[in-house]
Amino acid sequence: MKPAPFTYHRARDVTGAVALLAELGEDAKYIAGGQSLVAMMNFRLARPAHLVDLGGLRAELAYVREGDGVLRLGALTTHHQVESAPLSPDFAVLRDAMSWIGHLPIRTRGTVGGSLAHGEATAEWCLLAVLLDAEVVVQGIRGRRTVPAGELFLGFFTTALEPEEMVVEVVFPRPAPHAALTEFAQRRGDFATVAAAVDLDAGRVTLGGVAPVPLRVPEAEAVLADGGTFAECAEAAAAAVDPPGDGDGGADYRRALTRTLLVQACEEATRR
Ligand code: FAD
Repeated sequence: MKPAPFTYHRARDVTGAVALLAELGEDAKYIAGGQSLVAMMNFRLARPAHLVDLGGLRAELAYVREGDGVLRLGALTTHHQVESAPLSPDFAVLRDAMSWIGHLPIRTRGTVGGSLAHGEATAEWCLLAVLLDAEVVVQGIRGRRTVPAGELFLGFFTTALEPEEMVVEVVFPRPAPHAALTEFAQRRGDFATVAAAVDLDAGRVTLGGVAPVPLRVPEAEAVLADGGTFAECAEAAAAAVDPPGDGDGGADYRRALTRTLLVQACEEATRR
């Protein structure tokens, strides 16, 4: 299918793009890599009357900057830029997780900011942002603010962003040398049925595919804090979640995946 008609606008700078989106109102949307939005438009799940293209802001907003134990990514950084960046072991988990996102042509176009703004609960960027306490810097009509990733995802494809707010940067504020993400999808490149991510240094456990948002699991984190085994941690996580069922798998299947994947993620994080 083809999308419903829309008017195309090209953003020249961040301030102008935000002002334009505010002026055009709720019928307008930013477009970055287009790898989620265009599919939704083609299926008529989204019918924006105006698209504000952020592609012209790449020189300003596509970067990978690591220093002093902090990683900063511009919102228009593509998944593939991160996949091919010379990141230190402190942030290797981000680089390695990119291979789970779709296929190479998707990763060369899709962006970090677009993925976070889209807010898909199994998206790797959403899971990693929650796991690693990322700070999402957004610019709105009244200036910039920082949204902790733990407060960004409110529900099914719903974020705390105001309609005109643009993600401009994502900051990963601490090293995570013993973190890992793994997942299971029906076909290679599909969104995960269940994804599991751990940061053993921080004692964090995050799951995708078991709730409408990327989910931290305090019950599993408590097992890690008490020196429990990875199997006990995974069992606690599986018992704590109440996954939705859909064509990719029912609740029991997702709990079984949680058990297996969380042990795998813990073992991978230990090997780093
Ligand atoms: P767009 O599609 O351009 O935009 C998505 C949404 O974000 C829109 O609502 C848009 O208005 C908004 N937006 C974009 N940029 C900003 C910004 N800077 N500030 C505020 N709002 C913004 N993703 C995964 O995570 N894992 C997968 O396994 C996966 N598999 C895929 C398989 C296929 C076949 C396809 C087509 C896509 C897949 N994706 C997957 C999606 C891909 O990662 C997208 O790149 C990503 O979800 C959105 O990024 P984008 O830059 O393409 O955003």
